[in-house]
Amino acid sequence: KMTTDNHLRHVESLPVFPSGAGNIPRLNAVILGEALASEENDYVFPSDDFSRNAHVSSPSQYLEMYKRSVEDPAGFWSEIASEFYWEKKWGDKVCSENLDVGKGAVNIEWFKGGITNICYNCLDRNVEIGNGDKVALYWEGNDLGSDDSLTYSQLLEKVCQLANYLKDVGVKKGDAVIIYLPMLMELPIAMLACARIGAIHSVVFAGFSSESLAQRIVDCKPKVVLTCNAVKRGAKVIGLKDIVDAGLAESTKNGVSVDVCLTYENQTALKRENTKWTQGRDIWWQDVVPKYPSTCDVEWVDAEDPLFLLYTSGSTGKPKGVLHTTGGYMVYTATTFKYAFDYKPSDIYWCTADCGWITGHSYVTYGPLLNGASCIVFEGAPTYPDASRCWDIVDKYKVSIFYTAPTLVRSLMREGTQHVTRYSRKSLRVLGSVGEPINPSAWRWFFNVVGDSRCPISDTWWQTETGGFMITPLPGAWAQKPGSATYPFFGVQPVIVDEKGNELEGECSGYLCVKHSWPSAFRTLFGDHERYETTYFKPFPGYYFTGDGCSRDKDGYYWLTGRVDDVINVSGHRIGTAEVESALVSHPQCAEAAVVGVEHEVKGQGIYAFVTLVEGVPYSEDLRKSLVMAVRTQIGAFATPDKIHWAPGLPKTRSGKIMRRILRKIASRQLDELGDISTLAEPAVVDQLIALADK
Ligand code: ATP
Ligand code: MG
Repeated sequence: KMTTDNHLRHVESLPVFPSGAGNIPRLNAVILGEALASEENDYVFPSDDFSRNAHVSSPSQYLEMYKRSVEDPAGFWSEIASEFYWEKKWGDKVCSENLDVGKGAVNIEWFKGGITNICYNCLDRNVEIGNGDKVALYWEGNDLGSDDSLTYSQLLEKVCQLANYLKDVGVKKGDAVIIYLPMLMELPIAMLACARIGAIHSVVFAGFSSESLAQRIVDCKPKVVLTCNAVKRGAKVIGLKDIVDAGLAESTKNGVSVDVCLTYENQTALKRENTKWTQGRDIWWQDVVPKYPSTCDVEWVDAEDPLFLLYTSGSTGKPKGVLHTTGGYMVYTATTFKYAFDYKPSDIYWCTADCGWITGHSYVTYGPLLNGASCIVFEGAPTYPDASRCWDIVDKYKVSIFYTAPTLVRSLMREGTQHVTRYSRKSLRVLGSVGEPINPSAWRWFFNVVGDSRCPISDTWWQTETGGFMITPLPGAWAQKPGSATYPFFGVQPVIVDEKGNELEGECSGYLCVKHSWPSAFRTLFGDHERYETTYFKPFPGYYFTGDGCSRDKDGYYWLTGRVDDVINVSGHRIGTAEVESALVSHPQCAEAAVVGVEHEVKGQGIYAFVTLVEGVPYSEDLRKSLVMAVRTQIGAFATPDKIHWAPGLPKTRSGKIMRRILRKIASRQLDELGDISTLAEPAVVDQLIALADK
């Protein structure tokens, strides 16, 4: 039996505010569309109008649905699953799980015995219900003025042609296919084509080096690699095919060779005459794929058959090969998309993530298409040709839901508001954030400037491993607090535990775990179930351990405080890095901050802060003092940074996350222990930082 009582108590004690700001003093609350959110405002309420039209309109409606989802998960999720097409319905058991390593192998299954296909549900089903002529994908190229689009019917045809080709070269159900493509429409097309024939796709972000690509090829032994010859990113042309050639050579040396490399000719970046070619292995996409029939029978698969394999972004070490299966993932990504963004059929949706990351899987490709949404696939860099590109795109397509990462928000903030306010942005309705905790000051800028204080922000906390949103606002349901991911999604039971694994009650902070499975939980690490259990289920037996630290405030809101390894213990005070970073970023001249702990003779650990400054601001002793002051006044003297390290740039993963493990080594001057820096976006930043260390 599922024990949910503890958790339900938290949720039931959530403050149920009457509509509008109600009993919250005016100073603390602001209502969507009525005023700017200032530092005095703890709460941002949806307007009556927004709530009235939302899928979930009030805290009490959420509570009712949430309660049902954890008391009767089988009933709750099978009702939703029934809205999809199943060739055969699942068996008696909607879910079976064991998360307790003490009771045998960790095992999670949802809708086992159910036979379906996610590509069918994304495309064929939409065509059948009358969405055939609706635009599925808008494509916006790197260069201004280059664009394209595909309706649901057209997308289905393209997917079928590629699926037929893949079958023809021998790809069968259960085979792996590596996709190394930039954000062309061919990328989601390739994912869907694999799903259609039951092949397991593994998208490798097309910014990874040939070694990283080779590692992944050796790991999953694909039948085929799908790529393109080159891509333009900003003003640069990147020769992807050269990287793939090197990756394939490297993997062959390691005993894994690939027979087919299907290459899309991306003419605007590089002509085929200028592309290096390996006869027999390399094939031009445009020469073969369009010749195949534009219909293709679906390979029906079990809900528990694998859908894809994807590596985590590597912020904390060697990336992990996360495996997701079909049925639960389908139901969960579609449902989270619908509720967290309050999606309506008239919305135009843009998520800036690349399909090389989980966000691009769940919320560029599958979640939106399962809902019949029109979404934008953007090839370029968000600051090319200049910092206003995003708003140019928003106005061009009348984007109503805009989902991005704090790193982009902070970098645009650094460039100044004039780039934003030149554009109308009238179409925007809901904003979203993912990837890292969003600092309250960045949240306010996103809210006040980008959204004209009219659009709620869904700060979605989740992971590659979780497949879909775990803690996220439902924008019409309750008040938001800048910087908090708010409450758990339906069916998710977060718990905060102490070092010993005791569940903490009420207002608290500790390690974030999840009790019980949810439909899109990952089922294993590819080829390494033992590492799966050791990393995620052994630290706190009975729970899924997220690796993140978290606190819950008096109102039951959840605040992600960063990775647990990033918590700093200064003279017995446990300080979350996110908190100190937010204090620094709230300083008007600080663009970005990354805080790590260093050994300290007296205090145990000291606080070491790397800061980047707003465009054009020089670093000085006065500025250093006022940055330190910002932390002292906002948090307290105990959190005073011991060192401010001025940084022209910070080391980031290719998905834009700050890599603190490298900063920790620089801070403690353990320069020979920097470890693997191959997943860094710009490895040169590291040398720059080292050079500035004692300045
Ligand atoms: P690796 O696991 O290899 O170190 P990673 O954790 O960065 O890489 P992802 O799965 O892409 O790989 O990222 C998930 C992590 O990102 C979460 O565990 C959390 O630390 C952070 N995160 C994502 N969204 C949010 C959010 N809205 N608020 C706070 N943190 C977030
Ligand atoms: Mg992780």
